[in-house]
Amino acid sequence: AAPVLEVEGLTKHFPVRRGVLRRVVGKVQAVTDVSFALGEGETLAIVGESGCGKSTTGRSLLRLIEPTSGTIRLDGEDVRALSPRGLREARKRMQIIFQDPFGSLNPRMSVAETLREPLLLHGAATTKDVDEKIADLLVTCGLSDFHATRFPHEFSGGQRQRVGVARALATRPRLIVCDEPVSALDVSVQAQIVNLLQDLQAQFGIAYVFIAHDLAVVRHIADRVAVMYLGRIVEDAPVDAIFSHPRHPYTRSLIDAAPRPDPGAGRAKASVEGDLPSALRPPPGCLFHPRCPMAEAKCRTERPELRELEGRSVACHFAEQMPPPDRAAERPMD
Ligand code: SF4
Ligand code: MG
Repeated sequence: AAPVLEVEGLTKHFPVRRGVLRRVVGKVQAVTDVSFALGEGETLAIVGESGCGKSTTGRSLLRLIEPTSGTIRLDGEDVRALSPRGLREARKRMQIIFQDPFGSLNPRMSVAETLREPLLLHGAATTKDVDEKIADLLVTCGLSDFHATRFPHEFSGGQRQRVGVARALATRPRLIVCDEPVSALDVSVQAQIVNLLQDLQAQFGIAYVFIAHDLAVVRHIADRVAVMYLGRIVEDAPVDAIFSHPRHPYTRSLIDAAPRPDPGAGRAKASVEGDLPSALRPPPGCLFHPRCPMAEAKCRTERPELRELEGRSVACHFAEQMPPPDRAAERPMD
């Protein structure tokens, strides 16, 4: 089947201006040369620390941020070539869910009002039609029709995110970009929202780009995982391969840093060691070399290209030498 979404060479560099003349003194290389394809009902997780370019990538797909270069195709249609009118049409087919459902919902609009606009956009004709569809959407998203007259402040965080999901679903999208949709929620509620998203995917065949900083969260929802570091994909592999044998040292350190729900498992490292270098002045050679435990002289001067290795893509000179995780030390993450 033809992919729902095809991305080739997506790049977003922001100019940095200084002084009274607002001279361009540099550029933030937020996203560089990101490529992937996504099929119907598939989930690609994009994972990395904050500042790695994952949100910029997600927003660029919908042109909420205009990319600097690259190609984005939604069902074969060139998204970057669309007129403002064409883009409004296309936005029915690609939606976004944000991390903070409270911030993304209008506090003065009832749930019904929030859902009415996208439903009308999708072609619900009469008031009766719209009311029925609102009730339908709420039930589909695990709420009830009596929630329609309520306002965002009357809901829990999880319920608000359900409203956010309902709003995205209203136009029957082919693709939903989920930008850290559960990061602000309690762990128990996270699982409910992830389950909801999976149910909707099974029912409607929606493709997801699921953005997260935490690998543990994506384990149950992702078919594939793309790991980003300083604006570039450094590893892109099926979810099982990512966990059973990460080939990039950065992927490995993200797995080691992921929180483990089992209280007996001891404390995981809270984060990847070392500081994230500035995207304004990325290091020479391999972007990860200042933090990499496997770095050698070559890594400081030669940038590793993304290349194929055993059914995945990886950008590391020494990916072949990467040992599998120590089985004895491995602890259940679910
Ligand atoms: Fe580490 Fe070198 Fe691989 Fe970069 S290329 S991830 S520095 S081993
Ligand atoms: Mg899936």
